Amino acid sequence: MDGRFAPSPTGSLHLGNLRTALLAWLFARSAGSRFLMRVEDLDRQRVRPGCEEEQLADLRAIGIDWDGRPVRQSERLPLYEEALAGLGAAGRLYPCFCTRAEIREAVSAPHGPPGAYPGTCRELTAAQRAEREAAGRPPALRLRADGERVEFEDRVLGASAGVVDDFVVRRGDGAPAYNLAVVVDDAAQGVEEVVRGADLLDSTPRQLVLARLLGLPEPRHAHVPLVVGPDGSRLAKRHGSVTLAERRALGEADAGVVSWLASSAGLAEPGEKVGAAELVERFDPGRLAREPATFA
Ligand code: GLU
Repeated sequence: MDGRFAPSPTGSLHLGNLRTALLAWLFARSAGSRFLMRVEDLDRQRVRPGCEEEQLADLRAIGIDWDGRPVRQSERLPLYEEALAGLGAAGRLYPCFCTRAEIREAVSAPHGPPGAYPGTCRELTAAQRAEREAAGRPPALRLRADGERVEFEDRVLGASAGVVDDFVVRRGDGAPAYNLAVVVDDAAQGVEEVVRGADLLDSTPRQLVLARLLGLPEPRHAHVPLVVGPDGSRLAKRHGSVTLAERRALGEADAGVVSWLASSAGLAEPGEKVGAAELVERFDPGRLAREPATFA
């Protein structure tokens, strides 16, 4: 099944990101499928110059290759606008003027997940909307979801489910929201299986609802365990030398990094020298570790 990796060029890839990329590549390549690259650069405030090039170079350095040229989301704005227009025409969108703080303080939707949008702006009258618009705060657009519980079978985590709230599909600054862009692009690129970090599991019910509403095929999902630091929290800069450049600065060869990535995922013995091509040969999703790996 055709797969992809979709990094956001907002910082260097760390070992956790590299491991997710390697696993996504292994799922696709071991099945003889295409592997696509997508640069998720819609958050103009957070994108760092030069970061995309560095990320792609790091991915190549650990043996990952991809079919065709990387797709850049910032070059595809009309596609997202078209999807938004379709949802709008179907009466599925409404403007939301809430700030993050207001949402935090409001009581969550009764059956929604923690932090779910409480629906404050859902039924505003035209006059109330006009009043808020006049106050000058540019609204985000939210999907009028039905509070549906969506179930899906994750290839790594098994039976999974989540309730879908009225989530943002276009941000107040006009940028298409992550969930919208991912769904549009996965379908446009022909992605059949989404392999990504387990931190994105909660986004999947929303994305499945969007795919259905847009009449797009629903990909399969495999959420792979994250790498955590010795304190058990998701790997981050403060955990030490966690990027490829930092490993190199310590004198570690890229091959050593690949060995660690593979053994931490249960795909090689600790310290075993194994290259990406060899991993394709032996990859068996059933052998994949289910628990987060600790970087120490
Ligand atoms: N761009 C997202 C990230 O870097 C990943 C999106 C996805 O895999 O769906 O976290």
